[in-house]
Amino acid sequence: MKVYNTLTKKKEQLVPIDDKTVRMYSCGPTVYSYAHIGNMKAFLFMDFLKRSLNYLGYKVKNVMNITDVGHLVSDADEGEDKMIKTAKSTNKTPWEIAAMYTDAFLADIKKLNIQRPNVLCKASEHIEEMLEMVYKLYDEGYAYETSDGIYFDIAKFPQYGRLSNLDLEGQLAGARVAVNEEKRHPADFALWKKAPKEHIMQWDSRWGMGYPGWHIECSAMSRKYLGDQFDIHTGGVDHIPIHHENEIAQSDAFLKKQAVKYWMHCEFLQVDGGKMSKSMGTAYLLSDLEEKGYEPLAFRYMCLNAHYGKKLNFTWDGIEAAQKSLNRLSNLVLEHKESDTHIDSNVIEEYKQQFREALQDDLNLPLAMSTVWNAARNNVKSKSIYNLLMDFDKVLALDLDKKRTEAADDIPEEVTLLAEQRLEARKNKDWKKSDQLRDRIRQLGYSINDTPAGQVIKKG
Ligand code: AMP
Ligand code: ZN
Repeated sequence: MKVYNTLTKKKEQLVPIDDKTVRMYSCGPTVYSYAHIGNMKAFLFMDFLKRSLNYLGYKVKNVMNITDVGHLVSDADEGEDKMIKTAKSTNKTPWEIAAMYTDAFLADIKKLNIQRPNVLCKASEHIEEMLEMVYKLYDEGYAYETSDGIYFDIAKFPQYGRLSNLDLEGQLAGARVAVNEEKRHPADFALWKKAPKEHIMQWDSRWGMGYPGWHIECSAMSRKYLGDQFDIHTGGVDHIPIHHENEIAQSDAFLKKQAVKYWMHCEFLQVDGGKMSKSMGTAYLLSDLEEKGYEPLAFRYMCLNAHYGKKLNFTWDGIEAAQKSLNRLSNLVLEHKESDTHIDSNVIEEYKQQFREALQDDLNLPLAMSTVWNAARNNVKSKSIYNLLMDFDKVLALDLDKKRTEAADDIPEEVTLLAEQRLEARKNKDWKKSDQLRDRIRQLGYSINDTPAGQVIKKG
């Protein structure tokens, strides 16, 4: 498989460090509120990647963290801890908040057929591992103490900024007045924060009671479960400039070698062409989709139709179309299941090959989906195609052999396509072709009428 590596800005052949198992770490949710469907896009990306690697014959071990401490309102260590903020406003403890939203997250990923990572680890249970790294970085001069914490000194790590092509000098010149004047550089980041007495979550350290910075959790937990060096690290593109730069700086400085070989990032989900926003009510949850009658798997289907590296625009029309296509696809799959017609094994092999090649090319799922549709739409209905599509479903995980009801107004894609071709033929005054296409549409059980408003397709 070839993957696009954000670090080298190139598509590279994926070669597992230990030649056997691909070890992969994904930044998980901060459990201070419900994860929205944008977050789910990032977790679906992790799942598509893992399933594709498995499909292509790689063994995979993957780890995801649950952030239940240390993620401040701003990713750059400013503001209150998100967990504590929610806890205060709801009169609950941060632990209760974490438990509630972790359960909600697990329920959502189950509905989306996202396989639970092999290891799902909580930040608050790995303070010792984090402190081990902080102590060493401090002792070796990579970090310094201020009145409110221990900060990583990016000047000691010359490669800082490589992942995001950060122009540090430009950033420094244009920086707002540093909020924390004790920092040597505005981009220096907290490894450990000293806790004021009233701070709810705190642990003992060399510098008294405190709590970890957000970034160190990923470095410490990935190291614990995947070893010093591992293959793939995933996350959303928003993490490139701060969180992941910081992870690289602290891990690589700690190890004195490169911890992660391939950095992979998924682009954002937008809503109606803009940023998802809580205040505008567009940070939709999976439950919002369900309330409107859409299956969570329709959202999964939607994400399969855009490359992970491209922005995806969510609209209600879009999810409606995704649900209809999923219904149609499932019904086609079931038609193949019921039929014993023989099909040449070369045809099956060809589809398989196309599907694999699409996955191998940096997880080109939209291309893989075109093969899925071509196979499903094959005029020969055959159990072999059913078996093939169910094999593809190991990656897609759309429950393709589920009986899904197509609403009366659901016009199958095949019919829509023929109708479009008929329109084109009529434009070209090719009446013979137009009649042939109308007959073909009739054979599929649909009628077509030309009205002043255009052609109208009906079932029956
Ligand atoms: P958080 O809980 O904020 O740490 O985010 C969890 C994951 O969701 C991270 O990998 C983020 O990069 C990702 N993420 C956040 N918003 C979006 C979005 N609109 N589209 C895609 N991924 C997102
Ligand atoms: Zn992370």
